[in-house]
Amino acid sequence: MKLRVMFLFFCLETILLQATEAIEGVQAIQLSEAIKGPSWGYYQGGIPPPFWSCLANSEMCAGTMQSPVNIETNDVVKNSHIRPFYFSGLWKTAGIKMELKNTGHGVKVEFPNTQPIIEGGGLPGPHKLLDFHFHWGGNSQRGSEHTINGHQFAMEAHFVFLPTTDGPKHFAAVIGVLIYAGSYNKNYEHIVSKLKDVKNIGDKAVLDSFPIMNLFPETTRCWYRYCGSLTTPPCTETVIWTVFEQSICMSEDQISEFRKLIGEPEIFTEGDNNIVDTFRPVQPLLQRKVSLSCPRRRKYYYEQYRLNTNEYGCINHGYGNRKCHD
Ligand SMILES: [Zn+2]
Repeated sequence: MKLRVMFLFFCLETILLQATEAIEGVQAIQLSEAIKGPSWGYYQGGIPPPFWSCLANSEMCAGTMQSPVNIETNDVVKNSHIRPFYFSGLWKTAGIKMELKNTGHGVKVEFPNTQPIIEGGGLPGPHKLLDFHFHWGGNSQRGSEHTINGHQFAMEAHFVFLPTTDGPKHFAAVIGVLIYAGSYNKNYEHIVSKLKDVKNIGDKAVLDSFPIMNLFPETTRCWYRYCGSLTTPPCTETVIWTVFEQSICMSEDQISEFRKLIGEPEIFTEGDNNIVDTFRPVQPLLQRKVSLSCPRRRKYYYEQYRLNTNEYGCINHGYGNRKCHD
């Protein structure tokens, strides 16, 4: 512990010192080098979560609409006057290239050619799937970013969507799937079986095409919604969050394959620099409310949900008309 505190002082001091030198006009270029300096990390190495806001352009990590959060199911506001999601683009993925990549901080799947599109769910216009990635623990008692009634899951999958060029700008939409350790999940085997091909930083592997929808829970009718942020620096507060109410499972053997990945050695110092414990601790909700939406297609009338759609399904009690930041 003492060592970590010393390291923190050291890294903060380095940033400040080099920034001061740059401001003094010694060498302006040194500032950008200093900023690149120590990378953000979790709790093994790098700049840990409580200090992310001191990284360049990451002041928002100390903001008031941060993610992840703990969802208290007794405190959620029910809001079913919202458009259902349209996930047909996540079923039809034949011919769409999916590339698995070890980023050094984790593992993600990118879509270099065609990005599947979703609509509805209270999102302001259609959104395309930029990538999906995972967060996990060193054991299955921890690993997810969002928690439910204080319970942390073994893993969490994040599907990151951006507005299509035709749609409104500024907002990202992230869908979170909570994963617990349980029985074998054949739907995830497309990914798990390829993890050994991306063991080291920068490694890439092309996945066989499969419906991305299979990675979601069996029922996606109910989801939690709130306005929040990216859970890694720069922690930008432009994310419309969706966390499915239903969770899924993977077997211990499947989850342990993620823990075999090798990350940035200065960030992951345990074992063989294995990527583990890649979750940001929950952030205070403050004035925000989490809503729970379970819209039914049958009772779906445009006029009924129109007003609510303007709020993207984020319940903004407590902070007037303020939405996610632009
Ligand atoms: Zn994430």
